[in-house]
Amino acid sequence: MSKQSIHIVQLYPNDMNIYGDEGNVLVLKRRLEWHGYEPIVTQYNVGDTFPKNIDIIIGGGGQDSGQLKIYKDLLKLKPTLHELAKNGTPMLAVCGLYQLFGRFFQTATNEKIDGIGILDIETHATNERLIGNVVSESKDFGEIIGYENHSGQTTVGPQAQPLAKVIKGAGNNSSDGHEGARIHNVIGTYLHGSILPKNPILADWLIETAVKNRYGSFEPQVIDDLFADIARDIAKSRPR
Ligand code: GLN
Repeated sequence: MSKQSIHIVQLYPNDMNIYGDEGNVLVLKRRLEWHGYEPIVTQYNVGDTFPKNIDIIIGGGGQDSGQLKIYKDLLKLKPTLHELAKNGTPMLAVCGLYQLFGRFFQTATNEKIDGIGILDIETHATNERLIGNVVSESKDFGEIIGYENHSGQTTVGPQAQPLAKVIKGAGNNSSDGHEGARIHNVIGTYLHGSILPKNPILADWLIETAVKNRYGSFEPQVIDDLFADIARDIAKSRPR
């Protein structure tokens, strides 16, 4: 019997893909294989034809200049991405793309980059850069570990929930102790690192949600996460 496939779309890898965010796609591919599914990855860049039959949307961070390059194209995808989000497609947007999954990002040079508003967040650049290892505690996924580097400071509005509480580091901003945001099956986060290799529970949640959406049920395999556990311990023991 041929394997059931899961279609991952990686948004803007040419412009939004820093601090190892590509690792998130590699982890999804490999864990899907380990769970017995066939991963199919489409890279979507500015001007491409947007693919169909999507199971997971994922995208990474980028410089302000990268965000300026992609945002108009992203706005064209807005209705499609809202529809997918409404239908429960799991999505993970990291840092620069997280900001643009929100309402807007106001840059340090006072340009307002419009986002697609799937997440009820807004972001304002500041002179302070928030850099370093992050340890956070989430209701849905337990401890989430990663690495942040951003000047934008984000606040979460009432239509979304913060993803986690920060234990070490900054997260969304330097004041309220929240990291990331979630609505339904859409998650935004500042955490690179990359996030999925260090947080297999999050990777498996994206996979499980996608597989259940497409095939109705999910039969996970037991995966040995020894190396992920070691990476988590090391990241936790690092100075900020
Ligand atoms: N340019 C954004 C900021 O600095 C995003 C950075 C990133 O994606 N790491 O706030």
